[in-house]
Amino acid sequence: MDLPIIYHPNYVAPIPTNHRFPMAKFQQLYELLLADGVAETEQFYTPERPSEKLIELIHTPEYVQAYCQGNLENKEQRRIGLPWSLALANRTCVAVGGTILAAELALQKGMACNTAGGTHHAFPSYGSGFCIFNDLAIASRVLQTQGIVETILIVDLDVHQGDGTAFIFQGDDSVFTFSMHCEVNFPRTKQQSDIDVPLSVGMEDDEYLQTLASYLPDLLSQIKPDLVLYDAGVDPHIGDKLGKLALTDTGIYRREMQVLSTCVAGGYPIACVIGGGYTDDMKSLVYRHSLLHRAANQVYQQYRL
Ligand SMILES: [Zn+2]
Repeated sequence: MDLPIIYHPNYVAPIPTNHRFPMAKFQQLYELLLADGVAETEQFYTPERPSEKLIELIHTPEYVQAYCQGNLENKEQRRIGLPWSLALANRTCVAVGGTILAAELALQKGMACNTAGGTHHAFPSYGSGFCIFNDLAIASRVLQTQGIVETILIVDLDVHQGDGTAFIFQGDDSVFTFSMHCEVNFPRTKQQSDIDVPLSVGMEDDEYLQTLASYLPDLLSQIKPDLVLYDAGVDPHIGDKLGKLALTDTGIYRREMQVLSTCVAGGYPIACVIGGGYTDDMKSLVYRHSLLHRAANQVYQQYRL
């Protein structure tokens, strides 16, 4: 058996090339995983576009309709930071489908990874910070509604606080939100996760990994989640344009090994999304994102899932 990885050609949406958001990274990540032998083509699963009804488990019908039909007001569109196109709207929905599928496969096989996802700044009635629909929140509710899981732990290690996710699940004991992020980074107004761990600017590998280790095992044994959703943003990397932390490639890889093996060793299924990552050097960025799949592959083999 091999690690399930979710990829869809629609993750690649044509975006005006003068924009800084690197859409091509999804396709390049898929190609790198194949080229480096991290995964075979048979390991890739293709998600469906979820119905708007599923997206509306989290988002208001007004927002979903307005976004999907390209009718958002300019102010709301600017808050997202990505120019609207039908292709982007389609990619956005399919990426949500990818995270739902990753979660379903993780429950069947112990672990699964998306090659997209992690749009944690999306709130019920608006998008923000390159995030349109909150895939982590939607996947959580879809699985809960289907009666497949009750308790979910969201581990958000993107360098930015998972403010949308925190807001959505505030006061909801069935979804526990954990966010470890740079304290002075976007979003300026933080929401309250169940546990927030603000990190100081410039934090390096060892301190970061020790901080993580001081939370994760206890969280798992206290919450005993039916499923862990992991946002593996690589923007805590030292070379990231927006991150303000100082993790190396080795640090990111050690982080992924730490999260994945801690969950799998405890018997907790884990579904992973790639989260944020921003640099002009696309090759380095794609490699950073691939560290998740490389670590997942190793842990998957090691534990014979
Ligand atoms: Zn981020």
